[in-house]
Amino acid sequence: MGCRPLYAQGEKCRVSDENSEKTLRDATRVVQGGRRHEWTGGIVSAPVWRASTILYDSVGDLRANASRDTHHRLFYGRRGTPTQWSLSDALNDLEPGAEGTLLYPSGVAAISTALLAVLSPGDELLVPDSAYDPTRSLANGLLKRMGVTTRFYDPMIGAGIETVIGPSTRAIFMESPGSLTFEVQDIPAIVAVARARGIVTLLDNTWATPVLFPAIGRGVDYSIMACTKYVVGHSDVMLGSVTAGLGRYEALRTATYQLGQCVSPDDAWLGSRGLRTMALRLREQGRSALAIAKWLKEQPEVARVLHPALPDCPGHDVFQRDFAGSSGLFSIVLNGGSDAGRVAMVDGLRHFGIGFSWGGFESLAIPIDPKFYRSATEWSAEGPMIRLQIGLEDSDDLIADLAAGLARFRASG
Ligand SMILES: *Cc1c(COP(=O)(O)O)cnc(C)c1O
Repeated sequence: MGCRPLYAQGEKCRVSDENSEKTLRDATRVVQGGRRHEWTGGIVSAPVWRASTILYDSVGDLRANASRDTHHRLFYGRRGTPTQWSLSDALNDLEPGAEGTLLYPSGVAAISTALLAVLSPGDELLVPDSAYDPTRSLANGLLKRMGVTTRFYDPMIGAGIETVIGPSTRAIFMESPGSLTFEVQDIPAIVAVARARGIVTLLDNTWATPVLFPAIGRGVDYSIMACTKYVVGHSDVMLGSVTAGLGRYEALRTATYQLGQCVSPDDAWLGSRGLRTMALRLREQGRSALAIAKWLKEQPEVARVLHPALPDCPGHDVFQRDFAGSSGLFSIVLNGGSDAGRVAMVDGLRHFGIGFSWGGFESLAIPIDPKFYRSATEWSAEGPMIRLQIGLEDSDDLIADLAAGLARFRASG
């Protein structure tokens, strides 16, 4: 076919048959996605198109345009410009089988909009006990006030989700691996049960991204990402996305438009800039994090390493079966000791910042206490816990820093 994906003028020619998205690998897709000629004008990356008002040639032109579907067509700033469409299309390309992707001003906004798109008063929502705390807070707050009840479930439940489903269960939320404690969920098993019952599934796929776990292809209805993390990759932009499976896009788009959700072209542009190196960063941060996790596992001060690629982590077998690799975030459980020892360890680290979020190029360490965020399961640990985000620094420097940190922990008794 004469039509090359990057330089084709029209939508139909964007991807030629033998070079279809299904046969492209992720590293190629993150480089090429969303770069349509009509959006880039031939410039490598889509420029920043700023807009609120879009001008029409005449009243007739305005009427004709306003009545048509505005997807990928200039209409009004809130519906985006080529800058946002370029990123949302590139993210959509990463999820084979997806119908469409929309952007949000944060990961939390992506989660709340996706849930509001599917839930109505009287519905029941199932949420894993390992969910990101703001997800739990949304369920216990706004959703509850709207008449949606939430039942929290053991993230390791797998096909046993059947036993938790009630007559009004409308949606099953998943997050794999779980925040802080990294339980890997049996998503195919849960999806199979949900499909048979006509229940909608949503996955917070921030940790793996579609590069390590293509959720839509595995039957998930809505794949959600805090793009703030690996897509942006540089700790300087808040951004979220929801990718909808076949037949699921319209409900999402309607809720998104009604809630007025939109992102600035500058933030979308930075998201696209980050995305181009995401596969590379994930590979390197994943490699470094696993090397560090394995080293930590050998240290007497460390009781457990909660990293999905290591056997200590609940759901490790499912991880080996389902994921293409691991990213750069995991937790450790210290062996006995006190909070003061943990603080001494973290405060003295030279190469790890102390701060929330993750997925950037820089390493971070924070103390975590998962037991305060549980209601359906008990969490107990041998000692204080620390979550580590591994950045792009040399892993030997990070290991030396952690070794000195563990010595401070030990010395503090
Ligand atoms: C950070 C995070 C979010 C929220 O993303 P924001 O962009 O910070 O709102 C959602 N889910 C997970 C698993 C996260 O780590």
